[in-house]
This record gives sequence, structure tokens and C-alpha cells, in this order.
Amino acid sequence: MRFETRAVHAGGTPDAATGSVAPPIHLSTTFEHGPAAETPLGYMYIRDANPTQTRLEETLAALEGGETALAFGSGMGAAAAFFQALPPGAHVVYPSDVYYGVRALATEFLPRWGIEATAVDMTDLAAVRAAVRPSTRLLWAESPSNPLMQIADLSALAEIARGASALLAVDGTFATPALQRPLELGADAVHHSTTKYLGGHSDVQGGALVFRKAGEVFEKAAHVRKIVGGVASPFNSWLVLRGVRTLACRVERQSANALAVARSLEAHPAVEAVHYPGLASHPGHAIARRQMSAFGGMLSFRVRGGRDAALRATSRLKVFVNATSLGGTESLIEHRASSEGPGSPTPQNLLRVSIGLEHPDDLVEDLAQALG
Ligand SMILES: *Cc1c(COP(=O)(O)O)cnc(C)c1O
Repeated sequence: MRFETRAVHAGGTPDAATGSVAPPIHLSTTFEHGPAAETPLGYMYIRDANPTQTRLEETLAALEGGETALAFGSGMGAAAAFFQALPPGAHVVYPSDVYYGVRALATEFLPRWGIEATAVDMTDLAAVRAAVRPSTRLLWAESPSNPLMQIADLSALAEIARGASALLAVDGTFATPALQRPLELGADAVHHSTTKYLGGHSDVQGGALVFRKAGEVFEKAAHVRKIVGGVASPFNSWLVLRGVRTLACRVERQSANALAVARSLEAHPAVEAVHYPGLASHPGHAIARRQMSAFGGMLSFRVRGGRDAALRATSRLKVFVNATSLGGTESLIEHRASSEGPGSPTPQNLLRVSIGLEHPDDLVEDLAQALG
């Protein structure tokens, strides 16, 4: 079945007990078991698994073409569980342009867990090869990356990972499985902050890992989730599941809107650079065309005149809301260096934009009046 059909139907079997078409929300924390804790229906305690979360996991696995998936309470919870599934002594290669929380995990937490991490420019395959060591167990990629919108060649990274007997995991939050399916390109696992496009309405937090195979890494990450406890709640699982049903439609429109906005910004004299993989001028455009079916709703741009000029522009916007996060129905903009806080490597004149479902002309006009 095609992606749009899977997004609507995967994990959507009507409820066996009542026939309800919309999925039930099972809030129970505990499930009746036999005298020696036998679980004929598969459920025992909410932190191990719950039926609403299971439906979401079945859906996400089907969307990415993976054998199995794990839902988490946040994207960071999912990323942390994946790293915690690695053995002490392992080495990880991760992108220098990456979600700031993953950078904090790599620099502050991995060393405490006995894991070494090296940041590299993932658009430079020679640099990735050079960073790989005999102890490398994981390449963690993010494409498009946050906030510079860099494109990593996922098939090439999968080949490097295979050659090194390491895993390739891809944070596909910006692209969503509607546009890019890393498992089909050779990755072993996909990570999502479902808080973003999969939830889709800026009203639920969640994360997910989808695995090519239900093998050892999946088992280990599942064990981390069960014991460390980063599970998704039933209600949040339900909200993400609800969001997924309209994903294909939303992302298609957001991609079209973002391309219109990116083109208008590229032509604007107050703009120094636009980072959007859908533009022919983007250094990763050819790779993005190969591995994505459209270029998504995220972009960033640099304003001429530095930090003050960028802040002035954001404060003049009327349609865009100044807020962090992304992937909702409303267009958001933020001065990313301010959101990331002290020590952020993000350029001070960079604004990151999440394009929503408004009419593209209203977005283009709003940015034009704000940039003056
Ligand atoms: C938001 C985000 C995360 C973290 O997800 P949370 O749900 O906020 O914990 C990870 N990676 C990317 C690319 C993100 O945008």
C-alpha cells in the first residue's frame, strides 16, 4: 500500500470489543493477570506496554517500513534510550549541526555512561570515514539538520556504517516518513520527536524509535524504556495517532508553502542566505531530491545586519508567532541562538521557521513587511 493509505489505516483496526472506529484510550495502569502473573492478552503494567501505545507503535512501524517501534514520552527520551542501549566503551559519531538537546546528550551525558562521541560535519563523507574508529558502534545522523538544514547522504552513511559494523540511526523529525524513509535507504533505526509533525498540532509531546529489525538493539532500547521509564502516556499516544492520520496531507501543503516562502526570501535584499533543501542553490539539493519526495516545512535564513536586524524582523511579524518547536498548523519563527541559550553555535543572524498551513501569500507578505 502507498504511504497516504498506510498513514490513514495502519494500526487502525476497529476496536474488537465495541467496533469503535476511532481508537479507544486505555488509561488503565494495570491489567488483570493469572495467579503466576500470566498475561494472556499481553499486558500487565502500563510502564511495560499499554494498548493505546501499542497501536501507535504499530502505526509508526508501518509508516517507516520497520519491523517494530517504541513510543516515548518525548523525542529526547527516545534519543537517550537509544544511546543507553549501547554498551559502555562504545564510540558514537554525530553531526556538528544537530538538535541542541542531542548535542547536550553527547557532550554531557554520554561520557558519564562510558560512551565517547565525536561531532563531524555529516555532509562531508570523508570526515565521517575519518571519525570512525574500531569502537564505533553508531552513526547518528539528522537530515535535514537543525537549524542549518544540512542534508546528509543517508545511503552513503549506511554504507559507511555497514563497513564499520556500526549502526546508522537517523533523526527524521524534520522530514517525517511522508517525505523520507531512512530504513529504505539502509538505516537501522529512525528517531522522531513526535511532538513535531507526527502530532502535528502543537499540543502533544512524544518521541519514537522505529527499527528495521526487532533484534538486539530494539530489545535493549525496550528494556531501557521499561526500566528508566520514558514511556508515552495513553492519551499522548492517542493524540499522536490522531495526528498521523492527516500527516501526508499536512506535510505536502507545508512543503509547498515553504518552497514559496524560501523563494521569496532568496529574492529579498535584506536576506543574506536561505537554508532550504528545495532551493537549487542549497548544497544538498541533489541529495535531497534523491532521498526526499518533497523538502518539508522547515527552513532557516540569515538576515543582513546581524543579530539586531534579525530580532527587529521577528518582532515585526503579524502572522508568524515567535515560538520554538515546529510541525504544527501555525507558522512559527524563532531566533534560534537565543532559544538554544549560551554556548549555542548557531549564527546570531539566523531565524528558524516552521511553515504552517496558512495561505502562502500571507506568509510571504508578512515576512516582506517585517524585513522592511
Ligand atoms: C524537538 C526535536 C527533538 C527533541 O524532541 P522533544 O520531543 O522536544 O524531546 C529531537 N530532534 C529534533 C530534530 C527535534 O526537532
